[in-house]
Amino acid sequence: DYVAEDFIALVSSPPWGQGASREEALEQIRSEAGKLYDPAVVEALTKSPTKEEEKRPEGEVLSTISHELRSPLSFLVGYSELLASQPDLSPETRERAQEIQAEALRMSRLVERLLELSRFEAGKIKLKLQEVRPTELISRAISKARVFSSNHEIEVAFGEQLPTIQADGEMVLEVLDNLLNNAISYSPQGGRILLSAQKREEGVQISISDQGIGIPREELPKLFQRFYRVPGPLTDKVRGTGLGLSICKHIIETHGGRIWAESTVGKGSTFSFFLPLRPPGG
Ligand code: ADP
Repeated sequence: DYVAEDFIALVSSPPWGQGASREEALEQIRSEAGKLYDPAVVEALTKSPTKEEEKRPEGEVLSTISHELRSPLSFLVGYSELLASQPDLSPETRERAQEIQAEALRMSRLVERLLELSRFEAGKIKLKLQEVRPTELISRAISKARVFSSNHEIEVAFGEQLPTIQADGEMVLEVLDNLLNNAISYSPQGGRILLSAQKREEGVQISISDQGIGIPREELPKLFQRFYRVPGPLTDKVRGTGLGLSICKHIIETHGGRIWAESTVGKGSTFSFFLPLRPPGG
């Protein structure tokens, strides 16, 4: 049977195909069921998607593609690292090998993020709850971030008597890393970055303020959508994917908390999130 090939030939534009519409092509293929083609194959290929199938989220496609990319990427990362470490390379070749390694690493981080996002969207993420001290997580995030930034003053302000919370510490750290890296990336002139933590009724609120480019008011509601990036010259320069904030939102909401942004263009932005003392049911 060449049902699929024939379908493509029917719908492709001339001169390669007959330029038929999708419906015309399906009609013609159905009329050959049991003659040219196996009726079962025709049935499977031409039936309209069921409600379930139509609802199948693109997230599933995302997840499949990401899984498929994982092994070739780790091969690329590993092999380019090995290549770059060979002793007898010309400087130019070594530089190329290092570039390949850096790009492969970047892609594999992207794939890991896509996988994480699709697991959240599929409701497959389980929190590993522990007793967590917010101040400790903030300090860990800051020591990591200092490596990337030289021209920012990173300061902290902790309210008194911050409670410990029940949370997935690694995930909350991921949120802090993301917000802090954004604060650095989107304030290229430097300035002050302030991390503050306050006790709120039934939980803790953490805010990260920068003195960067800011975000127009009408963009604020879109920030947490996946792949969304605010258009602008700096966004074009800062390499990013628009996945970070959507993952942050999933992490915080899975904890029963919420996350939001306030900003003034040209002055800076503040991203805040609230975490309850323990997740509902946790
Ligand atoms: P990425 O940084 O990879 O583009 P994010 O999801 O982390 O993706 O952020 C989405 C967009 O929100 C960014 O592209 C940027 O336009 C905007 N943004 C995030 N944080 C800040 C910030 N601190 N200051 C200004 N704009 C920001």
